[in-house]
Amino acid sequence: MEEIEKAAKSANRKPEDIVLVAACKTQSNEIIDAALAAGQKIFGENRVAEVYEHFEGRDLAGVELRMIGSLQSKKAEDAVAIFDVIESLDRPSLALALANAMQKLGKTPKLLVQVNIGDEPQKSGISVPQLPKFLEDLQGEYGLQVSGLMCIPPARQPAGPYFALMRKLADRHHLQELSMGMSDDFKIAIQFGATHIRIGSALFGERN
Ligand SMILES: *Cc1c(COP(=O)(O)O)cnc(C)c1O
Repeated sequence: MEEIEKAAKSANRKPEDIVLVAACKTQSNEIIDAALAAGQKIFGENRVAEVYEHFEGRDLAGVELRMIGSLQSKKAEDAVAIFDVIESLDRPSLALALANAMQKLGKTPKLLVQVNIGDEPQKSGISVPQLPKFLEDLQGEYGLQVSGLMCIPPARQPAGPYFALMRKLADRHHLQELSMGMSDDFKIAIQFGATHIRIGSALFGERN
């Protein structure tokens, strides 16, 4: 997307340091076909069942599948089997389920911790005060390596302050990946150091 390049330039960043994750929930297989044909390789999915619908039977060479929706512990094994990256690690019970699944399958998807950056009761994610202990436990108790942080900031509020706090948290904990920014706020996310932006409607049009 041309707008990513523009936003990167005005933030004094290299466009290639910002990865576009195509958020394809509710999209048809024809849309996925078209995205793959256009060279898109990195896809975000919200549900395990939908990733099968979209990608089962396809040649996945060079394709990266990222889980961006909330994940039930009982689906941990399916998720570890199919996803390259799980962005929605948000609680100890899921950490345990993922650690067991990774050991059983001998597969280690990259993990991001989802932060409930606006402290909203209806949103998943670990709260900011709980993050340091959670990160410590992931390594110490569950033997899991974490690569980064992910968030969805509160709707209808300026996202900048939330993204700024995310940047700080990632720096403080020496985490490389910062997945933040969607169709409405990815330019701001790029200003605040997003490494991955997850775009649905601005890429594919409005969802059904
Ligand atoms: C749907 C979704 C997106 C993309 O949202 P758009 O506003 O359509 O760009 C990004 N992240 C998550 C977790 C989503 O569920």
